[in-house]
Amino acid sequence: MTLEGKMLIGQQAIAGTQDPIHAINPATNARLDPTYPGGSREDVGRACALAWEAFDEYRETTLENRAGFLETIADEIEAIGDTLIERAVAETGLPQARIRGESGRTCNQLRLFARTVRAGEWLDVRIDPALPERQPLPRADLRQRHVALGPVAVFAASNFPLAFSVAGGDTASALAAGCPVIVKAHSAHPGTSELVGKAIRAAVTKSGLPQGVFSLIFGAGREVGHALVIDARIKAAGFTGSRSGGLALWQAAQSRPEPIPFYAEMSSINPVFPLPAALEARGKAMGEAFISSLTMGAGQFCTNPGLVIAIKGPELDTFIAAAKEAVEASAAQTMLTPGICEAYAGGVNAFANSGQVREIARGQQGDAPNQCQASLFATAARDFMASEALQAEVFGSTSLIVECNDSAELKQVAEHLEGQLTATLQMEADDTDAARALLPTLERKAGRILVNGWPTGVEVCDSMVHGGPFPATSDSRTTSVGTAAIFRFLRPVCYQDLPEALLPEALHTNNPLSLNRLVDGQREEQ
Ligand code: NAP
Repeated sequence: MTLEGKMLIGQQAIAGTQDPIHAINPATNARLDPTYPGGSREDVGRACALAWEAFDEYRETTLENRAGFLETIADEIEAIGDTLIERAVAETGLPQARIRGESGRTCNQLRLFARTVRAGEWLDVRIDPALPERQPLPRADLRQRHVALGPVAVFAASNFPLAFSVAGGDTASALAAGCPVIVKAHSAHPGTSELVGKAIRAAVTKSGLPQGVFSLIFGAGREVGHALVIDARIKAAGFTGSRSGGLALWQAAQSRPEPIPFYAEMSSINPVFPLPAALEARGKAMGEAFISSLTMGAGQFCTNPGLVIAIKGPELDTFIAAAKEAVEASAAQTMLTPGICEAYAGGVNAFANSGQVREIARGQQGDAPNQCQASLFATAARDFMASEALQAEVFGSTSLIVECNDSAELKQVAEHLEGQLTATLQMEADDTDAARALLPTLERKAGRILVNGWPTGVEVCDSMVHGGPFPATSDSRTTSVGTAAIFRFLRPVCYQDLPEALLPEALHTNNPLSLNRLVDGQREEQ
């Protein structure tokens, strides 16, 4: 498939007229063709108009048609084959095996949402039949289902060029909910975005859907991204990226005449708590495993373990010694973009020069462009709690060990943390009481709590929560990974005393869609 450097506005491929972006291979700093001229406000307006036109038809597609559409997108992505893998590797510097795995995850994710759509549980149908004889007042006939919010803006992430980009989790969950999607492509991987965008466009045609169900826009976030979020026809947005970018767009979404939900996944340092018995039993192995997780993918994961909190003593020293050795042996790895590499180096320097940390180790220096040199620091609990800067996310393979005097201070540090995507306990049976004492704090702070694992590696499934209190996300009530992500783009509507002929099929008395419904307080027999 030849890359054209054009946006996809509905079915049309349109060349932008604004400042161009071009991909850079971060492994070599070479420019990759073609150039992608940016879209204008008019292009954004056209995509929004098409999405609005498509909305009422798309949101009432049958469960089968919509599920089939998601499966067709997955088939079309697979049909691109190695061209997609090669382009994504060139644009991100990520290893081919990782990109292949991510491609599989992306297609599985679309198929999982297809299954979710078919099952129809997300409609959350509740029926309270009329009680005309009830005293002192009769009850009306009341029926509830969920409906799609409207066209959704998706801001693709830099660190998952497939699984959290054009056909990634935000797009899959919004399309599953019945919302047309307009993607603002991430400027770091425009070619990958075009290839996947064309796969979705082909699926729209094959599924006989209105063209406005999907559009793809290129250009600068502050212009086209902002224009997209403030367009009155956009009714929700999904974002993965920096805290500053997420907050700027969240602010724009809340300042509209009609504010909209803006689901931003921003920054998290994912604390790990190696508890005393675990440190005693396996401090060395844990130190090594910690660095494997920290250095995976050059640390460019939102779930990277950027913080370790433990009670000081010889057992923690063993953990630190093993981690130091593993960091020093770790090879430099190419980062996603020159900008991300520069921000990493700046963040590590700010840590090193803060006067509040001691450097434990640096990894091997790279000899190619844009490489991440891993690093590890330590600090005292009281210094950590006195400094806002030490809680800042540094995107890449760096972590900070916070040394506490005792369990009371460890709990204080946990209480002091900002919201997180994950919190991890490393524990043995003898740590159960200590873990139980920490759990209420961790539940208040994090979206996912792990025991004896490492936070990198997020399963896409029904029970996953990839979310958490601010600043991990802008809305802790939901998740951006897993099938529950569909609820971000739905809202309940109650129908009171509508005649059967006007009710949507899901609410018909004879349950023609065979849904699992709550009728008069009881689960309906199928
Ligand atoms: P980013 O700079 O926040 O960019 C993400 C998207 O938002 C891009 O499409 C960008 O557009 C747009 N954008 C950024 N600032 C904006 C603003 N003020 N107004 C409107 N749109 C704006 O994130 P990134 O490029 O992926 O990476 C930079 C940093 O993000 C990393 O160093 C890391 O700290 C963080 N990050 C965090 C996670 C996580 O999951 N926690 C994941 C990825 C990145 P343009 O760039 O095209 O203008």
